[in-house]
Amino acid sequence: MKSVAEQRLLLAMIVGIVAGGLSGFLWGEAMLSVKWLGDLFLTMLKMLIVPLVAASVITGVAGLGDVRRLGRMGAYSVAYYLCTTLIAVSIGLMMANLWQPGVGVSLGADLAASRPAAGDIGVTDLILSLVHPNIIAAAADMKLLPIIVFCIVFAAALSTLGERGKPVIAFFEGLNDGMMKLVEWIMWLAPLGVFALIASRLGAAGGGEAFLGQLAGLAKYAAAVISGLLTHAAVLCLVLAVLARQHIGAYLKHMAAALITAFSTASSSATLPLTMEGVKLAGVDEKARRFVLPLGATINMDGTALYEAVAVLFIAQAYGIDLSFGQQMVVLLTATMAAIGAAGIPEAGLVTMVIVLEAVGLPLEGIGLLLAIDWFLDRCRTTINVFGDSVGAAVVGRFAPGG
Ligand code: ASP
Repeated sequence: MKSVAEQRLLLAMIVGIVAGGLSGFLWGEAMLSVKWLGDLFLTMLKMLIVPLVAASVITGVAGLGDVRRLGRMGAYSVAYYLCTTLIAVSIGLMMANLWQPGVGVSLGADLAASRPAAGDIGVTDLILSLVHPNIIAAAADMKLLPIIVFCIVFAAALSTLGERGKPVIAFFEGLNDGMMKLVEWIMWLAPLGVFALIASRLGAAGGGEAFLGQLAGLAKYAAAVISGLLTHAAVLCLVLAVLARQHIGAYLKHMAAALITAFSTASSSATLPLTMEGVKLAGVDEKARRFVLPLGATINMDGTALYEAVAVLFIAQAYGIDLSFGQQMVVLLTATMAAIGAAGIPEAGLVTMVIVLEAVGLPLEGIGLLLAIDWFLDRCRTTINVFGDSVGAAVVGRFAPGG
């Protein structure tokens, strides 16, 4: 996309999100009438995800040529994901200990109804979720992780076939380029889309006053999560400048459309097409971004990990349960795992939090305490999830370029 067009679009998106916030705030439920516009934008983005992920991963991996290069890129990606996620959870633990958001919170509400079904998400389930018996069914259900694993292995196989593999790889190259062209077109709907998504969600929350009331009830908790997310954003900017050698301002400008969309949709998977476009504009190594971004959107969730740490400590504090240093270390490890297990869809983190709560023996009903404003914090953490993925692509692109 030309830079003038990029700037105009960005400006329009900023107007869209501000206008959405204002009208949702002022007119509340009346704004539900524009929900369909937001749904239209979201559905169009989702429509691209499966073909884009498949084409991007296959061409990214096949383009590496040598399996050793794939190993190097994979190792750098996993190291980046793990390090930044662990830093995020540590910041979350620190903020929860500093703010003590759960102290004095009343447990008056009937929480039993909000008890989530005990999840079947242990380590072995995480490993099993990497493969699917029917790749078409996985695609139909938008289960991205098994699709990515299949595409990595398939691309590695194609690259061993020599001449016979080339037409198949060329097909996916064309598919990838065609999909990216569609992303550029759909982006023109983004200003209207983000306007409608924000306005109708605030409308569903009952408008500005109702939302502020809910926020005030959990003000310390929201402050702990948001200050943690901002701190982590600063860490990521540092990583971007020092390790990826990118200009922070220019990079953020290219990523702005994706970050606004992440906030509006609360889904890192739905945002993936725009993340790809932003990282492309920022000039990140092509093969690295094709491989790292789809994987990152599925398993690398710094914002979710941080939020889970704050939320679990909040629940412990609300129940008057003191978590020892050792138990907080268990939170560190399990929140990392829970974030990896969370899908890039709205409020997925709320479900995988069960892993963390069970690991330290806290009542699962505690999740009910957080529900009122989770939709809002979900948007904040998704924005950081997407930013973390994009920084990962830039870091891996610098240390293990595919070219
Ligand atoms: N909504 C988040 C995402 O898509 C996941 C979560 O934390 O719920 O990245």
